[in-house]
Amino acid sequence: MKWQGRRRSSNVNDARGRGVSGGRKVAVGGGVGLVIALVVFLLTGNPGTLLRGIGTQDATVPSGNQQVEYQVTQHEQQLYDYASVVLADIEDTWNTILPQEGADYIEPELTIYSGMVQSGCGLADSGVGPFYCPADQSIYLDLSFYDTLLNRFGARQGDFGMAYVIAHEAGHHVQTLMGVTGQLDRLRTQVTDGRLTQEAYNQYSVRFELQADYLAGVVARYMAGRGYLDPGDLEEALSAAASVGDDHIQRQAQGYVNPDTFNHGTSAQRQHWFMTGYEAGDLSQWDTLSALI
Ligand SMILES: [Zn+2]
Repeated sequence: MKWQGRRRSSNVNDARGRGVSGGRKVAVGGGVGLVIALVVFLLTGNPGTLLRGIGTQDATVPSGNQQVEYQVTQHEQQLYDYASVVLADIEDTWNTILPQEGADYIEPELTIYSGMVQSGCGLADSGVGPFYCPADQSIYLDLSFYDTLLNRFGARQGDFGMAYVIAHEAGHHVQTLMGVTGQLDRLRTQVTDGRLTQEAYNQYSVRFELQADYLAGVVARYMAGRGYLDPGDLEEALSAAASVGDDHIQRQAQGYVNPDTFNHGTSAQRQHWFMTGYEAGDLSQWDTLSALI
């Protein structure tokens, strides 16, 4: 992606090296139990959680060793600057498209953290992967996910997989502004009171996540229209989308696939809906809740 010398978003918060208490360096210890509880929560799909990740929540829980003395490498600073430009493109995309739909776009924040972060949705560890928190309308990203995406999930080498990831999380923000997140929250309460099975809810969750992939495709289309994409960028996004498909992650993690527990969609579905959004370039085909998927 052509990003050097371009506008960087001013909505990026640098929370790296801050620990979890907002500016004060802290020893971990007490936080670890809470983090594990949060991750287990995500793994079991327990109703009530507000975190919406990229689909990698079943990552192994890290040991909880927190980096206290924070050193920024050149590679990481490049990723930080890259993410800031991607967020600016996301702002430009939705500031253009949402008013056409009669909605105002409120720009989300992007919080870049290292290791652990106190979000509006609770304490989170980078093991949960990038996520969006509707409560404080912020995307949370540990830049080490770049290496995780390539080395652990096996996405194709290149920068644009990260653009897909950030645009997917920003898609959850669009869903929040447009009321879709509220619809899913209401369905979740039906699981709590027994009106909806967990398996049925998971199917809605998949459609919700595929919609975020569609919205990421819309952003990629906007960037392509401005001439910002390099050859191979689309393939990198598609490879990243496939690498975080439920079937791929489950096969990698446990050696078999259990569709009842899918909550983000298969690799093929994620690629399909990213490309559907890319080809549409607007919200005309974004209704994944009623579409055949
Ligand atoms: Zn998601």
